[in-house]
Formats: sequence, structure tokens, C-alpha cells
Amino acid sequence: MSDYTGPVIGLEIHIQVNTRTKLFCSCPNDPGAEPNTATCPVCLGHPGTLPVLNQKAVEAGIGLGLALNCEIRKRTIFYRKNYFYPDLAKGYQITQHISSIAGPGELRFRHRDRLKSVRITGIAIEEEAAKTVYTEDGFALLDFNRAGVPLLEVVTEPDIRSPGEARAFLEALRLVVRYLGISQGDMEKGQMRVDVNVSYMLNGQNSQRVEIKNVNTFKAVEQAAAYEAERIRQLLEKGEGFVRHTRTWDEYTGQTVEMRTKDTAQDYRFFPEPDLRPLVVSEGDIERARQNLPALPEQRYETYTKEHGLSPETAKTLISSRELAEYYEAVAKNLSDRKRAGSFVAVEVIGTKNGLSVQPEDLARLLGLVEEGKITFSAAKEAFHQSVEEGVSPLKIVEQKGLTKATSQQELHEIIDRVIAQHPQELERYRAGKTGLLGFFIGQVMKSTEGRADPKTVKELLNRKLQGD
Ligand code: ZN
Ligand code: MN
Repeated sequence: MSDYTGPVIGLEIHIQVNTRTKLFCSCPNDPGAEPNTATCPVCLGHPGTLPVLNQKAVEAGIGLGLALNCEIRKRTIFYRKNYFYPDLAKGYQITQHISSIAGPGELRFRHRDRLKSVRITGIAIEEEAAKTVYTEDGFALLDFNRAGVPLLEVVTEPDIRSPGEARAFLEALRLVVRYLGISQGDMEKGQMRVDVNVSYMLNGQNSQRVEIKNVNTFKAVEQAAAYEAERIRQLLEKGEGFVRHTRTWDEYTGQTVEMRTKDTAQDYRFFPEPDLRPLVVSEGDIERARQNLPALPEQRYETYTKEHGLSPETAKTLISSRELAEYYEAVAKNLSDRKRAGSFVAVEVIGTKNGLSVQPEDLARLLGLVEEGKITFSAAKEAFHQSVEEGVSPLKIVEQKGLTKATSQQELHEIIDRVIAQHPQELERYRAGKTGLLGFFIGQVMKSTEGRADPKTVKELLNRKLQGD
């Protein structure tokens, strides 16, 4: 890696945590409410008010820490980060800053089917600022509903080597956050915001870095990182230096624009928050969080592909939400053909509107009938689709429509004999060498069985009977 040439990217992500109340007061955590209704003296920064730490936000931090293979720090503190801005009524933000609840750790994810690991520097708990809304006639309106909403700030090491990888990392992180149920991580709604740090390495020599602030879609992260890496590369090629600074992404021009030279930590005059005691987390707290941790996407991907024999494509589809992964697992639990269960869920269930309305236990029994040879796979599909339409258990439909019957060899023989008897001319032509007519006979038999017979068995039986067996 020492002679690497290319982009070097690190990310800083702010994730809004969906606790019921805010981080330091009991206001509802509801940034979308009627402006300035979810506020109180604490989150409006009135003098003399005191913050009280929300335990649920701490639990979210521990949960995400464990999910990202971090060490959980048992004693951390909060700082005041001082700066003057209209969206910050107190004149400072309360943040764990370098005293992060978790870290170091790593997130393993897949990019272009290759496993990649990005190290996590730390995860800090901090509060949101108010939201500034700029009106068309030149006013700036402040909405303090967002002030004091809990954030988890996730900082990565500069381990990312391409804009596409940055995007894949963020998608993987959002999926983890969704599995944990601590945020929807919807970037369009500002529930996840990203600062992208970009530098460019030429033959192992790294450039200064540039920070692109508050990029708010996956696509923009990818585009901004690509634009910036190329811009720096060209500067380096011309032998032009630059100082570390902050830029913004202008999605209309597709360019980054210089904002300011980077504030240093000194500018914020960080000092320990005197109104909060150190945050102490016990071994029991960590153990409890560990118990509550769901199996994570990457872990499930491994199990599905390596133990269940699912294809990478199917596995990827099934882990795309925790609900879906759990649905599949409930279906596959007692089946021996988990590959069939997997593709049935990935294709039929997802491909059908309200497909998930069929109880996984019912679907499991339905596919169990296929395994036992009592119904055909196409009959199972038919029962499933009708079940979704009518809101009746697929097993009832198997019963009502007698879907099990057509597989009885006895009946199949009778149907085939009847079809052959009804088409003497075709039979003659077939025997005279027009073997392509086999397809016609198969079609007739399938029609008579209403698709309930196994096409392979039908073909075999027909072949024998047509040849006068
Ligand atoms: Zn409040
Ligand atoms: Mn922050």
C-alpha cells in the first residue's frame, strides 16, 4: 500500500436517534411537528436550566458500538463545544467529543462482492442544533423542535479508497442502524448527515485534506468525493499546494465550493460540561445491550450463503431489511431445502404486493408439502398467490382446490390416457416421427390438471405412453 495512488476518504456521520424524548429534556423528539411546539426552557437554552441525560440515547450508543465491534467505554464525559450561531441558543453544543462512548471498532461490508473493513475511530453522543429555514424573501426562520434531539456521531478512519466504497459503507451503516431500530437513517429527511474528508495520495504521499460538510444523499456523497478527489489530483499534478479547509457540495453545479478554513479544536474552546456528571456504564449495561443485539446483516449474509446454500443475490435481497431476514428465517427454520425457501421469499413473496401478509409458519408448511412430494412447486406458488389475494391461509387453499390430488400417480395416468385418446391424429403423427408434438401433449395434460402436476413427471409418463408403452 505504500505506493498507493488514489483517493483517501474518511467519513463523519451524524445519525438522529429516534428516542421518544430529546437528549437532555423531556420534550418529544419530533423534528417534524408544528415549528417550535416541541420545545421547553432546557432545549431553548434558557439560563439556569439543567440538562438530564436520556438513558435511551445512551443505550442506542452502546448498541451501535457493539454492532460496530467497538469497545464500550465505561466512563466518559460530556464537553461544551462553544460557538456562536443562531441555531444554538445556549452558545454551546453538549457533546462527548473525544470522550466517545464507543471505539475503536470496525464495520465490515461488501462492495462489488468483496468484503471490506473500515475502522471506526469512535461513536460520540451529542445534541442536535435547531433547524434554520431560509425563506424566499430573504429571512432565516429558526425551528427549535430539532434542538436537543440526540445524535450519534460516527467517525471513521481514512480507510475508504473510492467514492463508490464510501457510498457502500454508508448504505451498510444505515442498514445496521435500521436493524438496531435506533434510526431510519433517512438522508433526505436529515436523519443521517455526512461530512466527507477527502485527500489524494500520490505514490504513498498523502495530500492535505478537505472536508465537505453536510452532504445529504448517498448519490451526493459519491459525486462530491469523486469531484473533490479529481480536483485535488489536478492541483497536485500542477504542483500547487493548498491548506486544509472546508467546502460544501453544490448539487446544481456539481462542484464543491470553498466555505472557510477549518476551525481548529481551539476555536471551540472545549471544556467539560459542569452540569452533567461523568457517564458511567456498567458491565451489566453492556451485557444487556449485547443480549438485545440482533444478528446483523453481514453475519446473516455469511450464514445464508455458506450454511444455507443461498446465492449471493438471494442473500443480499433477504438481508435488505431485518423484517425480511426474520421472515425468511421463520420460513426456512424447519425445511431441509432452504435454498428453495430463500428464492421463494426473494422472488414470490417480495414480488407480490402484500406478500408478507402470508404468515411465515403457513408458508413453511406449504413448502413442507412440496418437500414431502404432496404438492408440486407450481401448486405451492398458486396457493401462495391466492392466499395473498383472499387473505386465507395457503393450506386452506391447497385443501379447497384439491391441489394435492393431481400428483397422485393414479389420476395422472388416467388424465394422460384420456388426453391421448382424445387426440388420435396427433398421436399418429407423433408416432410417424413428429416428436415435436410432445410439447402439445404436455400442454394438454397440464391444462387438464390445472397446472397441478409436476411437468417433469408428465413429460416422462407421456414419453412412455406415446411410444406405446
Ligand atoms: Zn425541551
Ligand atoms: Mn458532531
